[in-house]
Amino acid sequence: MKLKNLEMMLQRLGGFQKPRAALEQYQTPAPLAARLLFHALMQQDIEDRAVCDLGCGTGVLAIGAALLGARSVTGIEIDEQAIRTAEANARLLDADVTFVSADVRNPDLPSRLGSFDTVIMNPPFGAQKVHADRPFIDCALALAPATYSIFNAGSTPFVKAYTEGRAEITERIGGAFPIKRTFAFHTKDVQEIEVEILRLIRKQ
Ligand code: SAH
Repeated sequence: MKLKNLEMMLQRLGGFQKPRAALEQYQTPAPLAARLLFHALMQQDIEDRAVCDLGCGTGVLAIGAALLGARSVTGIEIDEQAIRTAEANARLLDADVTFVSADVRNPDLPSRLGSFDTVIMNPPFGAQKVHADRPFIDCALALAPATYSIFNAGSTPFVKAYTEGRAEITERIGGAFPIKRTFAFHTKDVQEIEVEILRLIRKQ
């Protein structure tokens, strides 16, 4: 499949029905999701791999991984309503994804889920709750040797320091995240946020 085709397919997916600001529910834009997934595909981290999407929301990343030939895909999400949207989205594109309702902050989660080859995620950026992305990073490193995650641009020094001794950043890809007016505190119709996709490789 070509990058453009994947992007067009992901563009068809439904958004959050009632987005919750406290959970920072912003659907990953299709072009950004496709970009992350293709980078992971090129690094042999998707095809035939067991993939986990942390905070999968509407399922965009998880469904994309399934369409690119992952062996299995699991989506973890705290909000059950979002899971229902994700399930409908997976049906729409005939993608085989298992969605699990769980909190990534639960320390028992890795032993419950087992291990994966690759984690893909677009965690909360911590705009509502400072460092909301930390438990996502911890959970990702516990689950898989390779992680691809979207962060605010400029997060590299923090992620590097936070994962010191545990993981190494082996790739950094810049990108844009257009956020549509969603919540009352948004003042513009669309606000574009600069982001970066980081590939983290766990140290043995
Ligand atoms: N990739 C998703 C967007 C993710 S936005 C999509 O395209 O729809 C971040 C997601 O993390 C939200 O869906 C939010 O509900 C979820 N989330 C926030 N805190 C969480 C937690 N502690 N455990 C699991 N999911 C969480």
